[in-house]
Amino acid sequence: MALRNIIGQDKALRILLGTLKRNRVPSSVLLSGDSGIGKRLAAINYAKAINCLEPADFDCCDKCVSCRKIDSGTHPDVLVVTLDNVEEVLSLKEKTGKDKNRYEYPIEAVHKIEEMLYLSPYEGRKKIIIIDDADAMNINAANAFLKTLEEPPPDSLIILVSSSPDSLLDTIRSRCINVRFYPLPVDGCREVISKNIDSKNIDFVLNLAMGRPGLAVSRDFIKENEWFTGLLNNMIYEKSKDAWSDKGEIRAWLDMAFILLRDMAIYKITERQSDLISGNRQWAIGNNQKIKDILNSYQDMQQVRGLLDFNLNKSITWNYVASIIKNIFIKELC
Ligand SMILES: [Zn+2]
Repeated sequence: MALRNIIGQDKALRILLGTLKRNRVPSSVLLSGDSGIGKRLAAINYAKAINCLEPADFDCCDKCVSCRKIDSGTHPDVLVVTLDNVEEVLSLKEKTGKDKNRYEYPIEAVHKIEEMLYLSPYEGRKKIIIIDDADAMNINAANAFLKTLEEPPPDSLIILVSSSPDSLLDTIRSRCINVRFYPLPVDGCREVISKNIDSKNIDFVLNLAMGRPGLAVSRDFIKENEWFTGLLNNMIYEKSKDAWSDKGEIRAWLDMAFILLRDMAIYKITERQSDLISGNRQWAIGNNQKIKDILNSYQDMQQVRGLLDFNLNKSITWNYVASIIKNIFIKELC
């Protein structure tokens, strides 16, 4: 593909293509925005456009040797570093330390990146390093990296990709041209995922993906819905206590609960089973609650989600959410 083929990010692409048209490719760029909306894809295609041997209207041709090498990860001047491949592609001695449940880039990774950037391009126009999850540098790594950003080697480009740009040092952010990516509108998201997702599940997946087609493709939302239903049963029948492993799971579970409650409320009004996501049918049909009570529960749960950011204790959250859930479904039990 080429840069212009990325769906739903017209503004970001205009900025990137604009730097090529004006022959003003900066030395560092930050692509920020939610996960799964095309940032890394844009970074790779930007690198292709810069080093393309036969560019078409400033975009990459997607056919030449350079474009093909970048796509296959074998171009000597373009490196994509991710938390998953960093040890391998930079031949690190130090392992990426797992701290607070997340991996981080160690300072050694930054030193290696710097060494690579200072080598002249071997066959391309520019030496390009794409750093995914750039916010995951530990503080020593981030400070070392800042020095590289301050004195960029000639003919080099660093592309930082981040879904939590607020976690980057201010000084790093301010050194980069910031290009913001946004979740896709429903039609754009549908267009991207329709090739990969079974048509009977597409509406369900679209609901959960919330404009982030990359997540729709990389995650198994059908399986996650089974997990959601299992925990919902546990809550209603008091089979277990606090079955979430971390806050990420609580958020994922609540997202599914919101879709269930919304489905139930819509079903109350339309009484059309076709409006229901298949996994939610068993809960919505025959539920005797008034629409007002369902909407109140929805609001209560939204409040819980807001409180998660204030370190709400996991088991207290479970008990509180269980009490809301039991209120909605308890009539079916009596
Ligand atoms: Zn090309």
